[in-house]
Amino acid sequence: MESGGETRRIVVGGGISGSLLSKSLQFNAAVTLIDPKEYLEITWANLSNMMEPSFAERSVINHRDYLTNGLIVTSVATNITDTEVLTADGRRICYDYLVIATGHMDLVPMTKTERFINIKQKIQSADSILIVGGGPTVVELAGEIATDFPDKKVRLVHKGARLLEFIGTKASDKALRWLKSRNVEVKLEQAVELSHNMQNHNRRNHQSGLPFPLCRKAFGFIMA
Ligand SMILES: Cc1cc2nc3c(=O)[nH]c(=O)nc-3n(C[C@H](O)[C@H](O)[C@H](O)COP(=O)(O)OP(=O)(O)OC[C@H]3O[C@@H](n4cnc5c(N)ncnc54)[C@H](O)[C@@H]3O)c2cc1C
Repeated sequence: MESGGETRRIVVGGGISGSLLSKSLQFNAAVTLIDPKEYLEITWANLSNMMEPSFAERSVINHRDYLTNGLIVTSVATNITDTEVLTADGRRICYDYLVIATGHMDLVPMTKTERFINIKQKIQSADSILIVGGGPTVVELAGEIATDFPDKKVRLVHKGARLLEFIGTKASDKALRWLKSRNVEVKLEQAVELSHNMQNHNRRNHQSGLPFPLCRKAFGFIMA
């Protein structure tokens, strides 16, 4: 099964786990990384990335930058047999060892360049921003926008009785006070009725938090 004296290891998924593993294995085995994107994204920097493109430049890393001694297949693995991985672009890649590190699947741009659609510019051109939800991502996003754009009208609508419901009330209260001190209007116990188009947008984009237009001068983020 071995090829050229090296074991063939396939890693499916170029997220945090798959990328770290591929990087670590690359000089000990013939490594193939299969991922639909050309880059690794440090997910916990997503929200800062939206506000600060130079930050994004450091937290979205082309697979080729760290995987210098491996094969990169930019495609989706569609099937796996005992010996091969089949990909959407029609390849059949043999392996001795297989790692499946597919995490969760978001619809994201394929290239690093496409990834940098300038969300900051969209926010800059909006007068008001509506954020729906009350979890940690929402609170962080509202905080980022309120800090970088103190003159924008930021509204946060959450159907729950408090923000950050998964942790204690002390932290919820502190987050609420902080947001209000930055003039974020927080509406609790209120639900936003989504149109069909917005629901579709939410299904497609809420993980990456891409904004959708509400009207010419307003944007919204749905993270509920
Ligand atoms: C906005 C946000 C903020 C977060 N903040 C934190 C934080 O602060 N702290 C923390 O610990 N965690 C945080 N997380 C969670 C953390 O990102 C995940 O736990 C981590 O990314 C999981 O890594 P993973 O490699 O297992 O999977 P993922 O990062 O989901 O990567 C999976 C990879 O597999 C690829 N893939 C999927 N299906 C296929 C297929 N069929 N073929 C080929 N490739 C495929 C995907 O394209 C992706 O590249 C956050 C997540 C998000 C979205």
